[in-house]
Amino acid sequence: MSILGNYIHGQPVASQSGRTAPVYNPATGEESLQVALSSADETREAVRVADEAFASWSKVTPLKRARILFKFKELLEAHADELARLISREHGKVFSDAKGEVTRGLEVAEFACGVPHLQKGEHSSNVGTGVDSYTLMQPLGVCAGISPFNFPAMVPMWMFPIALACGNTFIMKPSEKDPSTPMRLAELLKEAGLPDGVFNVVNGDKEAVDVLLTDERVQAVSFVGSTPIAEYIYATGSAHGKRVQALGGAKNHMVIMPDADLDQAVGALMGAAYGSAGERCMAISVAVPVGEETANRLRDKLVEELDKLSIGPGIVDGPDHDMGPLVTREHLEKVKGYVQAGVDEGAELVVDGREAVIEGAGDGFFLGGSLFDHVTPGMCIHREEIFGPVLAIARAASFDEAVRMVNDHEYGNGTAIFTRDGDAARQYCEQIQVGMVGVNVPIPVPMAFHSFGGWKRSLFGPLHMHGPDGVRFYTRMKTISQRWPSGIREETNHFTMPTH
Ligand code: NAD
Repeated sequence: MSILGNYIHGQPVASQSGRTAPVYNPATGEESLQVALSSADETREAVRVADEAFASWSKVTPLKRARILFKFKELLEAHADELARLISREHGKVFSDAKGEVTRGLEVAEFACGVPHLQKGEHSSNVGTGVDSYTLMQPLGVCAGISPFNFPAMVPMWMFPIALACGNTFIMKPSEKDPSTPMRLAELLKEAGLPDGVFNVVNGDKEAVDVLLTDERVQAVSFVGSTPIAEYIYATGSAHGKRVQALGGAKNHMVIMPDADLDQAVGALMGAAYGSAGERCMAISVAVPVGEETANRLRDKLVEELDKLSIGPGIVDGPDHDMGPLVTREHLEKVKGYVQAGVDEGAELVVDGREAVIEGAGDGFFLGGSLFDHVTPGMCIHREEIFGPVLAIARAASFDEAVRMVNDHEYGNGTAIFTRDGDAARQYCEQIQVGMVGVNVPIPVPMAFHSFGGWKRSLFGPLHMHGPDGVRFYTRMKTISQRWPSGIREETNHFTMPTH
């Protein structure tokens, strides 16, 4: 069985740690390779390489850096199908969905090509007699990224294109469940002309991550993953003086008002709940119909649609399935456990995905789509993130009750409201304690030139990812006040605060 190592200083490097983890093809259940779990020393070596590369990379002109990213974007376009197949083979998602993920990552690389415009800083002349003031937005140094399994291409690309464009060097620590795509991205960056050592990949687990959180040469850490780990990353990285943005888990609600176009809402809900087998941080996992009649109609339509849900391998000859398998057997068992927990705590299991007959499933990690009704806050299937193809209907008697249900939840990543009433939509946008809100849009993921991030326990740290916040995160502001001899001479020494 081959062992996937690291990518350091522009080349693949075998790990000597002696520790590995299996990577599976979720569609067949077979182990496809082993990934190295790097030692602390190997991780420190990557930090040394990135630190050394910073001296020259930070001095490359912004436009030259941007041109390398432009070439990288072109290579992503040329290799989109290959990357999508790689993603599907290790994650399980269907090919078209994987290709969509590549596109959304590529869009951040595209945005990063314009970073020179956003890194210009500010200037004021004559702030005092003969004094000009301006800001520099300088790169930080070595930055690290730690990513989750569910977007092995897009989430790393939320981070490194902007970090690199701003003049930083980077160490990527991908998920050990699907590590091959970030390795391929490293090769494409090299092909685009990125100097060796500027982008490195260290595969591993907590041992590698802890070096990135504590080594004083690492200046900033971007993390995306589950909330308990996000909290740990934020606390540990911050305690070691690093800038940290740590995006965590989610439980996203879609409120369906009585006046909503129900067919449109149901279509949107099916994709948002079951697309990518529910393994999306912006997946809708709770539908909140307002009023009993809305709830009954919604439920009937969802049952009808679930009957048509097509499930199968991510890569097929012919049209794609709607959803593929879950990422690992362990995760499959965990999601099944949540379905059972919902039954045990009294929710009504309307459609049981565990009973789905999936043609050609073999030993793959497949599970059908499940639907619960009469879920209430307090039940664990409402409190906790399931991260699988399980949708809960939690009925609300009024708009205010729906808003309360969303706002009382510990997570605040994404939410949506479906309605024809502009006033209700506006009220929702104003009152809701969630970072990303969709109005008749089920998965309101901001475009690359806006920033992505949740509220409450879905994000630790002040800055969101990519867009303007991405540039702020990967740069440090320095303000210069300068005066040049101009014939203006101070007559006396001044010991008070200057107040020009
Ligand atoms: P995870 O938290 O298990 O792993 C994320 C990363 O952290 C991986 O690289 C992993 O190797 C590392 N890690 C795991 N345990 C660690 C530990 N004890 N110490 C240090 N590092 C550790 O998350 P996952 O299961 O890979 O991904 C799914 C989660 O990610 C879900 O909760 C999902 O909501 C979340 N997610 C959030 C967003 C967002 O934007 N908020 C986006 C995508 C995924």
